[in-house]
Amino acid sequence: MALHAETAARTRAARTRLATYSKNHCPQCGEWLLAPDWSEYLNERCVRHTWSCQDCGYQFETAVFFASREDDQRAAAA
Ligand SMILES: [Zn+2]
Repeated sequence: MALHAETAARTRAARTRLATYSKNHCPQCGEWLLAPDWSEYLNERCVRHTWSCQDCGYQFETAVFFASREDDQRAAAA
């Protein structure tokens, strides 16, 4: 039972990663950005990325919030 929930959460995480992979575009000029310049681990549920665009020089930050393990298990059971 617990194994099933964990597998479902992992599958959903992989899908989320794939869905966001092609969405890293410069908000200023729309150029595709390969990877952040810097990623900072804030805590177990939050990572902050610093980006800069090589085309126009625009710099910005994004923050990614991960669901807690309890949230994942609740979502998998629903
Ligand atoms: Zn740009």
